[in-house]
Amino acid sequence: MQITEKVFGETPEGETIFEYILENGQLKLKIINYGAILVELHTPDRNGKLEDIILGFDSLDGYINDDTYQGATIGRFANRIKDGCFKIDDKEYKLAQNDGENHLHGGIKAFNKVIWKAEKIEKEDSIGLELSYFSKDGEENYPGNLKSTVIYLIQDNTLNIYFKAFTDKTTPVNMSHHSYFNLNSAKNGNILDHKIKINANQYLPVNKNLIPTGAIKSVQDTAMDFTELTRIRKQIKNMSGGYDHNWVLNKNNCELRLAAEVVATKSGRKMELSTTKPGLQFYSGNFLDGTMTGKYNIQYNKHQGLCLEPQFFPDSPNHPEFPFSFLRPNEIYEHSIRYRFSTI
Ligand code: BGC
Repeated sequence: MQITEKVFGETPEGETIFEYILENGQLKLKIINYGAILVELHTPDRNGKLEDIILGFDSLDGYINDDTYQGATIGRFANRIKDGCFKIDDKEYKLAQNDGENHLHGGIKAFNKVIWKAEKIEKEDSIGLELSYFSKDGEENYPGNLKSTVIYLIQDNTLNIYFKAFTDKTTPVNMSHHSYFNLNSAKNGNILDHKIKINANQYLPVNKNLIPTGAIKSVQDTAMDFTELTRIRKQIKNMSGGYDHNWVLNKNNCELRLAAEVVATKSGRKMELSTTKPGLQFYSGNFLDGTMTGKYNIQYNKHQGLCLEPQFFPDSPNHPEFPFSFLRPNEIYEHSIRYRFSTI
């Protein structure tokens, strides 16, 4: 097990950004302290060959100019808030509308565009990186000074990501991870032949701007039914544009439980994702349009990668019926995600 630190690049303001390579013989990761971004994730295929299974960029410029949230830590509030508005105790807050009329993934200079302080973690059975960021009261118009932490930790064939936050004023917090996975590696085509299972009997219907209508519907007899391992190609043809929805995960008791499995038969890679949060956004890379070139000089076309983002439901601050509460002073926001990599 080892952690190697190197210079990754320099921001236009002259700040040096570092990369941290974590290796344990089974997994190899590269994380940068810009955006607490996961830049590379190498896992073995069925023949033991390590390949990078996430999309991203070779250079810091790629991440600075990126508006697709490659590998990013997303926050303060992941996903959409309708019209960028919410109320806390009758006081109205107005956030940036950076996705049409909506607020998306924390705003303009959100957690994926700031510099984090990194500290290495070296334990007997695991290694990792702890990244912390102090988001000031009023930043992106969110109330409260927020101390936020992201920990990446690898042990054997699992990657754990822990998020933690503390505030001094009531504020909405919803932190998640936004890697685009392609278990065959992006150079070997799109994700349409990946099979996916989502442990959810229900999902959230959305309006044309991808804001939940408030209804919670059964997946049964719909293209949203992934209760059995199903090839994405089989059902996506019934979804104009593709998937960009939130599933209501079963067993919602804040404990870490299996939310989804993804299998790529070509490479034999399997990924199991667990989370402590109630929702899972499955986004099938619909807005990748071939105009962006990523790592290894690969052009990113529609469905080149898929995101599975565990979180509170989108627009939760405006839906008192959803399982969500604002973070208040003296409380801790916590979220654990676990990815387990194996082969079939
Ligand atoms: C959203 C997509 C959005 C993408 C940005 C996803 O989490 O659900 O609608 O386009 O992030 O890259």
